[in-house]
Amino acid sequence: MYDYDLLVIGAGSGGVRASRMAAATGARVAVAEERYLGGTCVNVGCVPKKLFYYGSHFHEDFSDAKGYGWDVSVNHFDWPTLRENKNTEIARLNGIYQSMLENAGVTIYPHRAEIVGPHKVLLEGKTITAEKILIAAGGRPYVPEFSGAELALCSDDIFYLEQLPSRALVVGGGYIAVEFAGIFQGLGVDTELAYRGTQLLRTFDEDLGSRLASEQTNKGVTVSLEMDVETIAKNDHHGLTVSFKNGRIEDYDLVLFATGRKAYTANLGLESTRAELRSNGSIIVDDYFQTAEPSIFALGDIIGTPELTPVALAQAMAFVDSQFKQRPRTIDYSYIPTAVFCQPNIATVGLTEAEAINQFNEISIYRSEFKTLKNSLSQNNERTFMKLIVDVASDKVVGIHMMGSEAGEIIQGLAVALKAGATKAVFDATIGVHPTIAEEFVTMRTTS
Ligand code: NDP
Repeated sequence: MYDYDLLVIGAGSGGVRASRMAAATGARVAVAEERYLGGTCVNVGCVPKKLFYYGSHFHEDFSDAKGYGWDVSVNHFDWPTLRENKNTEIARLNGIYQSMLENAGVTIYPHRAEIVGPHKVLLEGKTITAEKILIAAGGRPYVPEFSGAELALCSDDIFYLEQLPSRALVVGGGYIAVEFAGIFQGLGVDTELAYRGTQLLRTFDEDLGSRLASEQTNKGVTVSLEMDVETIAKNDHHGLTVSFKNGRIEDYDLVLFATGRKAYTANLGLESTRAELRSNGSIIVDDYFQTAEPSIFALGDIIGTPELTPVALAQAMAFVDSQFKQRPRTIDYSYIPTAVFCQPNIATVGLTEAEAINQFNEISIYRSEFKTLKNSLSQNNERTFMKLIVDVASDKVVGIHMMGSEAGEIIQGLAVALKAGATKAVFDATIGVHPTIAEEFVTMRTTS
């Protein structure tokens, strides 16, 4: 009756996983992708960002090596080498995504898809029908409207820059802004981070933002808080002149706006169905990813849940179990760990102190701040910060926050403990691994 059992719009993390897993059940599956296989994460997000992060951190590693007796002289950083090696690796990953889909028997349409009815999609002027349509089209960077906004770059653009700027302004105080400020600075760009509020990473535990601002400042980033851009204009020296709302005027070679992302629902054709959108453009779904149009489903960055690849992957698995394996199930969004690849790294799982105060009668807080053993021989004065939040009544650890080297690697294991309901007594009874940074999480005994 239909051309396919499932047509997926968007071959990013969620769309590819759902396509492959549904096809593995014997379903006839097609996926439409207008840009690149692998979506934001593989092409203009997590993967190339982490490669750039590694590249930028060598700067500090070379300097640290001196205290260990290495005679390191660094002459030059070559941006085109990093960019092109990254492009080669991303092309390799694109190829892997293609063969994974093809081997799973999924038909790939390299076109933009427009929904024209509950079971119908238009692809290059051709109508394709499907019993179920899954929208996994993700999000796109958002730049607010102001005079000169078209002169600002977004994170997508940074991955393909022809040359590095001498002086850059990064606007925003969230994940992308703090990550790219560190990358630019590490690669030798004179970098300013301008955030309109008073605390970077506003949605994270309040102990992290201020500490990150001072660490970034120590590393050479100019962190400007309560600093909001009013206009951008081209200047006579082939650069950009930025006017801030407080009257300050500065010149830069590049301005990056990292001011959030928006669901990519524009021109998707949802008005031809009963599916509904929120005012911010994200698609409203139930716990099983079904929209108000019963044949249309959506998951990933486009539905307003945490915009993280592992969340989209988990949603895709739940969707396939529910729709193609007769095992309906939902997702538990509690205790989702996350890492920010700023410098130093930040990672977190569970509640912030403010959330825990709201949720529990009494909490206890354990904090630790120190210079690592590794940094004792280098001249690096980077501080590491760790925090545990405990619900006193149940003794359960309900939040863990860290700023320091490899924070993401450390938090991943601790997230398992929190998901399993570990109490502070279990943390205390756990033997540390010595000498590590992570052992501090099982040796904290004094509340603060
Ligand atoms: P975020 O939502 O994290 O941060 C957006 C920032 O932009 C906030 O500081 C916000 O300020 C500011 N902002 C918003 N609108 C304006 C405006 N009009 N003028 C000035 N500033 C503004 O978005 P990102 O773009 O950094 O990242 C999007 C999402 O992508 C993240 O939330 C995350 O889920 C995901 N991501 C995950 C990564 C990871 O896992 N490591 C890495 C990168 C992205 P305010 O706080 O005042 O609202």
